[in-house]
Amino acid sequence: MNRTRVRHALLVSILLASCLWVKEEVWAGQAGGCNPKQYAAERDKMVREQIRKRGIKDDSVLRAMGKVPRHCFVPREFEDEAYDDHPIPIGKGQTISQPYIVALMTELLQVKPSDRVLEVGTGSGYQSAVLSGLVNRVFTIEIYPALSRKAGALLKALEYRNIALKQGDGYFGWNEHAPFDAIIVTAASNQIPPPLLRQLKPGGRMCIPVGGAYQVQQLMFIRKKHDGTITTRAVLPVRFVPLLGGH
Ligand code: SAH
Repeated sequence: MNRTRVRHALLVSILLASCLWVKEEVWAGQAGGCNPKQYAAERDKMVREQIRKRGIKDDSVLRAMGKVPRHCFVPREFEDEAYDDHPIPIGKGQTISQPYIVALMTELLQVKPSDRVLEVGTGSGYQSAVLSGLVNRVFTIEIYPALSRKAGALLKALEYRNIALKQGDGYFGWNEHAPFDAIIVTAASNQIPPPLLRQLKPGGRMCIPVGGAYQVQQLMFIRKKHDGTITTRAVLPVRFVPLLGGH
């Protein structure tokens, strides 16, 4: 009797262990080896200490930043730094922005659930994922094919279903899906690209770092009024990678 029980217990634990192993394998295949459920405490701490404390108040933005598994969007070797207070290299000389800057730009856009948003500079796909939960549709453009493919596969594996990706020069926007309620550019440009201004809805908002490559730039907030006039405001000095392309 006792021996049967022991055998049963053994069988059950072997089954459980193999289920867990299969689950790990599934994550490894789906999302570049990351488990989105990990790092919950680090993520909470990031939201509290880097984002809320520095003045980000919009609850929906704070919630989105607390939800997206940032560690899945950085290369494996940087996983344990994913929630630290700095940008991280993602390949091709590009970086995933510092968490506070992602939150600040997202808050500046003042998005609502029915909005359609364009992002220029997909990079890792992290900013798209943050926006995904806040708006109706995200359109994102990346100039490097390898980064675009990688971000696309990851966003699909993590089941962000309302993000459309395109590989190309985002300077020219995405005309087929214009106009947009909000546009976010996550690479620095010497000027505000006129095609992007054209693709912004009246009443729309844009956020873009303006300035020279590898210099301190100004994060600009732009609003297109309902009569079509444009207002701009410098928000903060920032340092972004440059907007590339043939424009
Ligand atoms: N938003 C990204 C980080 C962006 S880094 C994230 O959340 O990870 C800036 C990105 O802009 C880089 O991936 C870079 O390759 C891309 N980029 C630079 N110039 C571009 C252009 N003209 N069109 C589209 N993407 C561009």
